[in-house]
Amino acid sequence: MRKEALKIGITGGIGAGKTTICKVFACLGIPIYEADKEARWLMENDVTLINQIKQLFGTESYQDGKIAREWIAKRVFENRELLQQLNSLVHPAVGKHYLQWHQKQHLTPNRTPLLYTLDEAALMYESGNYQLLDAVILVTAPEQVRIQRVLQRDNHRTEADIKAIMQNQQPEEEKKQKAQFIIENNNQQLVLPQILQVHQQILELYKK
Ligand code: ATP
Repeated sequence: MRKEALKIGITGGIGAGKTTICKVFACLGIPIYEADKEARWLMENDVTLINQIKQLFGTESYQDGKIAREWIAKRVFENRELLQQLNSLVHPAVGKHYLQWHQKQHLTPNRTPLLYTLDEAALMYESGNYQLLDAVILVTAPEQVRIQRVLQRDNHRTEADIKAIMQNQQPEEEKKQKAQFIIENNNQQLVLPQILQVHQQILELYKK
C-alpha cells in the first residue's frame, strides 16, 4: 500500500502572501485546501454546522438558505465571546473537512506522486488545527509591507480595518517560534528559492 501523504499547513497573517506562494506549490503538483473559502462553503452546506450556528444566533442567521454574513459579522464584532463560540463551531468543522479532503487526494489520479497536501489558513495556531498536521510553513512579512499589500489588493479596506484584523491574529514572533518552516516574503529575499528549499525539506520529511 502507498504511504499516506503528509499533511502540511501554510499560514501567515493577513497580506503575508499565503495565496501567492500556494500558487507556486500548486505548480509543483501539490493539492491546496483553501480553509477560509471552505469555511464559507461549509457554513452554507454542512447541515450539522448550519444547525449549530442557528442555535447560537437564532434562525435570523440564515435567509433563504444563505448565511446572513453581515448580520453575524456585526453581532460578533460587538461581542468577542460570541466570536469565540462561532469559531469553536467552524474551526473543528473545517479541520475535519480538510482531513476528509486530504484522504480523497489519494484517490485522485495525480500525474506526480502525492507526497503532501497543503492546508492554507490564516488562523492555524489560533484555531488549534495545526495539531492535525505533520508540520506548518509560516509565510511572513513585516507589518507595514502587509498593510501596503492589502491596501493595494482590497479597495474596500482601510488601514484601520487591516490593523483590526491583525489584532485578532497571533503576533508573527509567536508564530515564528512554532512553525517548522519559514518563508520570508518581505520584498528583500527571493521567495522562489525559499519555496523550493521548503519543498525539498518536506520531501525529506516524507522519506523518514
Ligand atoms: P490574506 O490572509 O488576506 O488572504 P494572503 O496571505 O493570502 O492574504 P496574498 O493575497 O497572497 O496574501 O498577498 C497579498 C497581496 O500581496 C496580493 O495582492 C499579492 O499579489 C501581493 N504579494 C504577495 N507576495 C508578493 C510578492 N512577493 N511580491 C509582490 N506582491 C506580492
